[in-house]
Amino acid sequence: MVNSEPIGILRFTLSPKRELYSYKVVVRHEPGIVSRICTIPELKKVDVQHLTYAPISFKKRGRVSLFLVADFKDSNVDPEALLEKLKATEGVLDAELGRVVFPGLIIDDFHFPIYLMKDYRAVIVDQGTLSGMLEGVRDEMGPAGEAFLYHQGFDAGRMAVDYWLSEMEPIIGVKTRREIWEAISRMIKALGWASIETLNWSDDGIGIRIRADGLVECQLLKRHMGSHMFRGFISGIFSRLFGKELLAKEVKCVSKGDEYCEFLTTEVFVGER
Ligand SMILES: [Zn+2]
Repeated sequence: MVNSEPIGILRFTLSPKRELYSYKVVVRHEPGIVSRICTIPELKKVDVQHLTYAPISFKKRGRVSLFLVADFKDSNVDPEALLEKLKATEGVLDAELGRVVFPGLIIDDFHFPIYLMKDYRAVIVDQGTLSGMLEGVRDEMGPAGEAFLYHQGFDAGRMAVDYWLSEMEPIIGVKTRREIWEAISRMIKALGWASIETLNWSDDGIGIRIRADGLVECQLLKRHMGSHMFRGFISGIFSRLFGKELLAKEVKCVSKGDEYCEFLTTEVFVGER
């Protein structure tokens, strides 16, 4: 994975050795607001662990809610004093200190729902839940469970292209299949599924070769081998893009000892998926 750095999206954390406090800070959406907050002397003395500022979803309302987490250990800063300074900062409409449920446990229950952009909602599925979803259905249903995961992925892939065509195309204009795939493959990476590289492209959809580094579906497998949901997902994407049913076969897989997962598209023959 070239030029990739991991990113944390803090929704909750447990760190009993630290003195963590969290804040909700509602601000006016205007230039300079983040720098004004960051120059508060009390905030400069603590170890900031997380700061979210994403105004795109709420731009119309002219306000943005930040989530701030900081470690106060050895800082001699009073969390209430920082709260008062936040409230007194120009452009801050409201500020609140997070409830301490257990010492060291921080949970952001200030904010809901989660939006990726505009009014496009998202949920975060943690690896424990995902692992249960991917392996449990294979434990219970065997090959039928694998088919279930494939079809779930397939419809999700078709919908990803439909979303692109209905929401993106009117704004950025008609793009080629290759260009749409390049954008969607980057979104797959942005959403944390896998880092995608297109090794080979074909204009009829057959023989497209995709390298997937760090594919979460396969990395989490303990009792099974091989991707079904993700290969269904890219099968759905290419089937929708090319207007015919295409199948992505996984020809390399980390769960089988390969360095990365690799998929190759073929035509669908009767009884084959
Ligand atoms: Zn794999």
